[in-house]
Amino acid sequence: MAVLYEKVALIGLGLIAGSLAHAIRRGGLANTISGYARSAETREIAREISLCDDVCDNVADTVKDADLVILCVPVGVMGVVAEEMKPHLKRGAIVSDVGSVKAAVIASVAPHIPEDVHFIPAHPLAGTEHSGPHSGFAELFDDRWCILVPVENTNTDVLTQYVNFWKAVGSNVEIMDAEHHDLTLAVTSHVPHLIAYTMVGVADDLGRVTDKEVINFSAAGFRDFTRIAASDPTMWRDVFLNNKEATLDILGRFTEELFDLQKAIRGGDGDYLHKYFTRTRAIRRDILDAGQDTDVPNFGRNLTKES
Ligand code: NAP
Repeated sequence: MAVLYEKVALIGLGLIAGSLAHAIRRGGLANTISGYARSAETREIAREISLCDDVCDNVADTVKDADLVILCVPVGVMGVVAEEMKPHLKRGAIVSDVGSVKAAVIASVAPHIPEDVHFIPAHPLAGTEHSGPHSGFAELFDDRWCILVPVENTNTDVLTQYVNFWKAVGSNVEIMDAEHHDLTLAVTSHVPHLIAYTMVGVADDLGRVTDKEVINFSAAGFRDFTRIAASDPTMWRDVFLNNKEATLDILGRFTEELFDLQKAIRGGDGDYLHKYFTRTRAIRRDILDAGQDTDVPNFGRNLTKES
């Protein structure tokens, strides 16, 4: 594949930045990758594993002469980092981000983008429960969606080139506005994470079922909640604080449906439950047909290894 950007700068060196670095190298999409993370410890690990060509000790050196700068830090600090890098950006560069929330990130970053720099917010819908510089891998974005949320008056040639960048790291690309993105993600990701956090919290609080029982018998469904609930606490705190409205909207609807199901169980309304579960089963089929999960039993886990 051809070089799309001479120098790409990654701010934050965790799961997403690390995966980007590997995918950029896999595709030969840049001649130089520079990187920066807040702590000296993360920067040192990144150097040891050669995550980037150049791990810098400050934001200014990292973004200097970069054609593409991608903010891969938690949503809550995007604005602060953007402010810090503002005086050092190259004319004509693209600034992007990978934040899980879009309206709040645009509000905090856009004021720090110079007039001669393009800003194209993005969100790759790809992740794992792991974080840190060791956690990235080149295939993370393969066949996953990346949503681009261009701001007003984005140059179409620059946008097309950036769409091609995400396709080259393996993603399918969709363009969306920020509000719609935030509502969609509240349904597909943010509220499901909150429910998983709650269920694991409930199990932890429950006196009548022992911790040992919860752990030993978790394969009956709970285990999948624990995987989601093991996600990075800083990242998810910031997601909820910055996608308040959509999260509370969907959570309200969720609570209403939960009450209906509770009523059906209490009243012995088997028809209601059966119809409900039949509808939800069809959604699973649609996800499989779209190639967004595996049909292998038990999500493809190797049971002999795990049990
Ligand atoms: P991560 O593995 O925890 O990495 C975050 C990185 O940001 C770390 O290297 C951290 O440095 C650095 N950082 C934090 N504050 C900073 C600051 N003020 N200045 C410079 N660096 C700073 O997180 P991640 O999973 O890659 O997530 C990064 C972004 O991607 C988040 O906005 C998240 O919403 C989004 N995202 C995540 C996923 C997912 O599933 N994980 C999926 C899609 C999008 P230290 O190590 O030194 O603290």
